[in-house]
Amino acid sequence: MPLVLDLREMRGPEDRVDQTHPAATFAAGRSDDYAVADNVTLALRVRKDGEKCRISGHVHTTLALSCSRCLERFETPETLMIDLLYLPDSENRGAADSEIAEEDLSIAFYRDFRIDLLQLVHEQCRLALPMKPLCRDACRGLCPVCGTNLNEHACNCETAWRDPRLAALEALVGGRRH
Ligand SMILES: [Zn+2]
Ligand SMILES: [Zn+2]
Repeated sequence: MPLVLDLREMRGPEDRVDQTHPAATFAAGRSDDYAVADNVTLALRVRKDGEKCRISGHVHTTLALSCSRCLERFETPETLMIDLLYLPDSENRGAADSEIAEEDLSIAFYRDFRIDLLQLVHEQCRLALPMKPLCRDACRGLCPVCGTNLNEHACNCETAWRDPRLAALEALVGGRRH
């Protein structure tokens, strides 16, 4: 099944995209912030009005992210709500801006009558990513001293606080020994 929507091949003004693709299809074209970890289900309505094309509906998948605290990979289900107005790439952006004001829609652009749904999914994934992904709300992160994942093990670093001046002195003494 192609992931490119060719507007010239649409039989009527309205069409649907109901497809499920394996995660591997989405391995390319993503950023390093995430990986697509499960099937991607697209449930989209496509409405063509002259050169405009509105795509709405949702995309469901599971994303694999890296926790910003403990750096562990974790998976999170995502349902991306889609409501995009596609305009031909040649159209100037001034016209597009007035459309935004009118309909409060996100504007995207297509080229050569083709809408790349793979790109659409990746763009929506990027928009859905949290600034600081967390594997769980209460993630304890890594010990800044020894790097232990504090969700899994405790370490003794916090109690073993020492005067940094003393540590510097010891490093100096240690350095002379070598
Ligand atoms: Zn974490
Ligand atoms: Zn530690």
